[in-house]
Amino acid sequence: MSRKTLLEELSRRPLVCDGAMGTQLMARGLASGACGILWNVDRPADVGGIHLAYRNAGCELITTNSFGGSRFALQLHGLAGRVAELNRAAAQVARAAAGETGWVLGDVGPFGDFLEPVGDVTADDLRAAFQAQIAALLEGGADAILVETMSDPAEAVVGVEAAKACNKTVPVIVTYSFQKTGSEFRTMMGTSAAEAMQRAIAAGADIVGTNCGTALSLDDYVELAGQLVSAAGKTPVIVQPNAGSPHTENGKTIYKATPEEMTACAQRLLAAGVRIIGGCCGTTPALLAAMSRAVRAAKL
Ligand SMILES: [Zn+2]
Repeated sequence: MSRKTLLEELSRRPLVCDGAMGTQLMARGLASGACGILWNVDRPADVGGIHLAYRNAGCELITTNSFGGSRFALQLHGLAGRVAELNRAAAQVARAAAGETGWVLGDVGPFGDFLEPVGDVTADDLRAAFQAQIAALLEGGADAILVETMSDPAEAVVGVEAAKACNKTVPVIVTYSFQKTGSEFRTMMGTSAAEAMQRAIAAGADIVGTNCGTALSLDDYVELAGQLVSAAGKTPVIVQPNAGSPHTENGKTIYKATPEEMTACAQRLLAAGVRIIGGCCGTTPALLAAMSRAVRAAKL
């Protein structure tokens, strides 16, 4: 394959990751609360269509539809026995859309509970569950593993360990979700931005950063990005903001940022030293197209 490795390319230029998957699945008919990962086998053309829309918007990093793909998350839907099948399919669908010049990020979301001592899942059990998911993602063609929406650095560390146990050289990305309390960014578990980055890097993460977040404005993401870049040192930083802070209308959470606002946000994130820009809740192929143009236009 002539494609350069993700880390090699990232050392040359900033890259664009894709945006939200869940809302795009719902726009194609996935019921709220239903298990979107099943669509990798039941409706692969729909999942592939979403990947392609992001690919055509200029996103070079395509994230598999496997957020809730660990045994722990799948057992809520009675699907714990299908970890290998569903994750392999997720990677195959993304691989087909990413093509020869795109990279596939095998997505690993939170397992949905607390590790010991707060909860009763041990780190060893969780590592085994993540390892089974990640092995299937790699088998299906993932180029890197994205451990995302983390709140607990201990869970993020287990995610990195699981990926490196599957393949010592696979690039691992860790992103945490933060909220702002006063002037400080902390995860839901109370971990500071600096500690969150340091724990992931110490465990072997190759790229670190943030995705999603609780009620953060686009200005907040820029401020947070500055803190993450300085905490991460030489490790490249990824930022995947929501489409602005959420509003509630008719009981629904909606995001209203315009392409112009997301363009300006992408420019400011790049200026802060961020190397991979993508989107989280409320982002669409149209918003990612605007951000992608901003990244391409930047002389960095
Ligand atoms: Zn999100």
